[in-house]
Amino acid sequence: MNYFCTMNAFSDTIIEWYAENKRDLPWRNTKDPYLIWVSEIILQQTRVSQGYGYFLRFVERFPDVQTLADAPEDEVLKYWQGLGYYSRARNLHAAARGMRGKFPNTYEGVRALKGVGEYTAAAICSIAYDLPYAVVDGNVYRVLSRYWGIDLPIDSTQGKKTFAAMAQELLDVSRPSLYNQAIMDFGAIQCTPQTPDCLFCPLAQSCQAFSQGKVAQLPVKQHKVRTVDRYFHYIYVRAGAYTYLHKRTGNDIWKNLFELPLVEADHALAEEELLASPLLHSWLAGNGSFTLGLRRRQVKHVLSHRIIYADFYELILPEDTVSFGEFLRIPIAERGRYAVPRLIQAFWEREDV
Ligand code: SF4
Repeated sequence: MNYFCTMNAFSDTIIEWYAENKRDLPWRNTKDPYLIWVSEIILQQTRVSQGYGYFLRFVERFPDVQTLADAPEDEVLKYWQGLGYYSRARNLHAAARGMRGKFPNTYEGVRALKGVGEYTAAAICSIAYDLPYAVVDGNVYRVLSRYWGIDLPIDSTQGKKTFAAMAQELLDVSRPSLYNQAIMDFGAIQCTPQTPDCLFCPLAQSCQAFSQGKVAQLPVKQHKVRTVDRYFHYIYVRAGAYTYLHKRTGNDIWKNLFELPLVEADHALAEEELLASPLLHSWLAGNGSFTLGLRRRQVKHVLSHRIIYADFYELILPEDTVSFGEFLRIPIAERGRYAVPRLIQAFWEREDV
């Protein structure tokens, strides 16, 4: 028999499923809004399996709002190194500094925190304070669009409004914390993007997408993300026991992280082109002899809107070199203290340089 659950029955089924399938995650066994906030920010763009260790290390070092607020930004970024989307860490830190030791306890107060959108505010407020705000994230869009057979694009204004209203109506207001966590886990474990487990799904009998054979077509998105290719040529300088870094500033990826001297171009430069680069020459001015050699070509690093193709060169300078452009001179043995993009960390590790 094919029938829709009532809204209450839908919520009850999801909560029953959760009781049996709940993941044992450290941020699920707490009502501390700070810990829930940190976990939600980490998980915004990160899989649970990757974020788990980061969460534990982060809250061990920064166990509460004040400790985070008191820490230098460079250290916060270092604990974030490898997670990507570093604006999340900068926003966490800035928001902690604005709290004066006390986490806000209203939806409006939480929503006003830097880097906190509607989804994160609803998650924090429902889980920590049992406030009746429904979460709407990718998991929720997927479950609702499939179960109710809705093909409105989830990235359209109309789609967003419809799904948000529906999610709010479905929310079990007597237990918002439980319901929100249940539907997020249901989407993450049962009704997954590529391989939903429809055959063993407690909602299968009444699921519209399943009965109509449309599971793979839902949810619908109207815009494809456009990506831009960028070509980075990193120069790993070695002058005796020293190397050179600089901090990225400006409104671009990896803001406030450290990186190797970089020549960016609109295409992958051949070695001779790099050698002729005015930027490289300006850095080398005043330095005597040098040797430049390619260590690694076309390392592909995929970000949400960009694909970076990186070549890594090694530049050997005389041991007594004391400056290279405006870069920061650091002992190679201490480079691990600096927060760098994963791309650079991986180069150091793989090349054993
Ligand atoms: S039957 Fe399949 S598509 Fe429908 S809710 Fe269950 S897992 Fe998702």
